[in-house]
Amino acid sequence: MHQPTTTPRPSIYYPYEVFQPWLPSAHPAQTRQPVVIVGAGPSGMVTALELARHGVASVVLSDEQQFSPGSRAICFTRRSMEILQQVGVSDRMTATGLPWRFGNSFYRGQRVFRMEAPHDPDDRFYPILNIQQPYMEQYLYEACAAHPLVDVRWGNRVTKADRYDDHVTTTVDTPEGEYVLEAEWLVAADGGRSGIRSQLGLQMEGASYEGFFVIADIRIDLPLPTERLAYFDPPWNPGNTILMHREPHGIWRVDYQLPEGETPEEALRPESLKARIDAQLAMIGFGGTPWEMDWSSVYSARTLTLPEFVQGRVVFTGDAAHLLPIFGVRGANTAFQDAQSLGWHLAYTLKGLADARLMASHSDERVGAAREIIEEAGKSTRFMTPPSRGFRLLRDAVLSLSLTQAFVRPLYHWRTSRPHEYTHSLLNCPGDDNALFHTGPAHGAPPRNICLGPDEYLLDHLGGGFDLLYFTEGPAVPETLLAVVRRWRDKGVSIRITAVGASTPVEGADQTLADGTGQVRRRYGVSTSGGAYLLRPDQHTCARWLTLDATRLEAALKQALPGA
Ligand SMILES: Cc1cc2nc3c(=O)[nH]c(=O)nc-3n(C[C@H](O)[C@H](O)[C@H](O)COP(=O)(O)OP(=O)(O)OC[C@H]3O[C@@H](n4cnc5c(N)ncnc54)[C@H](O)[C@@H]3O)c2cc1C
Repeated sequence: MHQPTTTPRPSIYYPYEVFQPWLPSAHPAQTRQPVVIVGAGPSGMVTALELARHGVASVVLSDEQQFSPGSRAICFTRRSMEILQQVGVSDRMTATGLPWRFGNSFYRGQRVFRMEAPHDPDDRFYPILNIQQPYMEQYLYEACAAHPLVDVRWGNRVTKADRYDDHVTTTVDTPEGEYVLEAEWLVAADGGRSGIRSQLGLQMEGASYEGFFVIADIRIDLPLPTERLAYFDPPWNPGNTILMHREPHGIWRVDYQLPEGETPEEALRPESLKARIDAQLAMIGFGGTPWEMDWSSVYSARTLTLPEFVQGRVVFTGDAAHLLPIFGVRGANTAFQDAQSLGWHLAYTLKGLADARLMASHSDERVGAAREIIEEAGKSTRFMTPPSRGFRLLRDAVLSLSLTQAFVRPLYHWRTSRPHEYTHSLLNCPGDDNALFHTGPAHGAPPRNICLGPDEYLLDHLGGGFDLLYFTEGPAVPETLLAVVRRWRDKGVSIRITAVGASTPVEGADQTLADGTGQVRRRYGVSTSGGAYLLRPDQHTCARWLTLDATRLEAALKQALPGA
């Protein structure tokens, strides 16, 4: 019998709640579910919320009865916030989170580089928002609990998954014993140590780096702005790297690399933690400032991915599908993009709106994203923890040159998580005008947000299905286009038509955005009436035209939903 701990996790800033376990005796016989999701972390919950947005019910199983321990993910990117806006939790995040856009790199006590992440008036969200993972999980859970299509079951541990051609049977252990739950699809969102991945004998590809980092969250009052601080080769930890981040609720993260040969056990001894944190505070001019430890942990960098995320009726997502280094804040941020993608691909497959190629495309797109991140994150990791003497020599040369030579300083640039563009996706329309555009989100790119007025942005009006942005100053959407849209809607495909550019409501459009400043047209590269963008339900562009007609729209929808 599975008995998760019911003692609230210790924390000096987050009041952990212990939820009641879901017990099979209190529920009637279980029917086959469309989707069972293993894991109530960020991946599992955002997948459930995305599925629900597309009308698909899911059961989310968590082996725990409370949110994850420690701060874990603290830095959330703009694209993550746009995804969280879609599932209704961005306001909660921004209400308590700390936005930032500057990073500072120091070498031997001297600041050698100040990074500025781009932010313009068209962005609703800052490049990065800092907030601790348990808060983010709480907001997601509250959204799940409020949704009739999401059934979160605490204290339910999946011990076995048996795959069949058209369903998966899971064995679930609870505090009062086992029950069996069948699903048409099983989503393995069970984290980096995925038991389902092991049970299916799947191997990840990539590299694990030597060298350990300690993460320590301390409560301390430091009169410093919310900016990322990176210290290379500091006197108290020669040759190694220290990162510092401000978190909400008076917490700071101190993240330092261990000297070669030191074990995680040695590093986590209270006296060792204290000596190092004191040394870091002294170095930045705050020696003697009182502080209190909240949580500490040790990690090492890994860049690993499964080569296929879809394995029959089992789909891997988030950390279960890939393990990415913490530098560059990849894990949860990538998990959100996986979930947003998986939600619509799986929902449309379940509804019979596309054939097996849609899920295969999801796997190709997200494995491609993981590989791109691995390539980029590998560079940061090799800079932080040089894997060989050669890399160390090169890194040290950059560091010492940076004191006198400005040109090497941008090499410190911190490659933060950015959304992957599905440039070569099968779902992109080959016969459109993509190549003729001079600007705007190209094939596979996420949309560009645009400020439309006080606290009003383009992305507030999009999402939840296919979006057709139709640029027109005319009075009506042509009847031939409306006929195509009606046919697809009749099949069950959600398509919203947004007319952009007319000052009065355009007939046939679901909504009209006047675009009084012309900014949407400028940023989307459409200067004449009749141009259009087709965005997939995850908001990525799959077709765009300088002139749209019914045949072209039909072709794009067929391409985006293979087999429909
Ligand atoms: C110290 C640290 C700092 C980090 N900082 C950042 C950051 O700043 N930004 C960022 O983007 N990422 C960061 N990450 C990574 C981020 O925390 C993870 O990538 C993210 O939590 C992955 O989400 P997930 O849902 O895929 O997996 P998890 O969060 O691991 O969730 C998996 C869930 O599955 C449950 N589970 C496991 N097995 C079973 C089972 N058999 N049955 C039922 N339930 C099961 C677990 O209890 C858990 O709730 C950090 C991670 C760590 C450890």
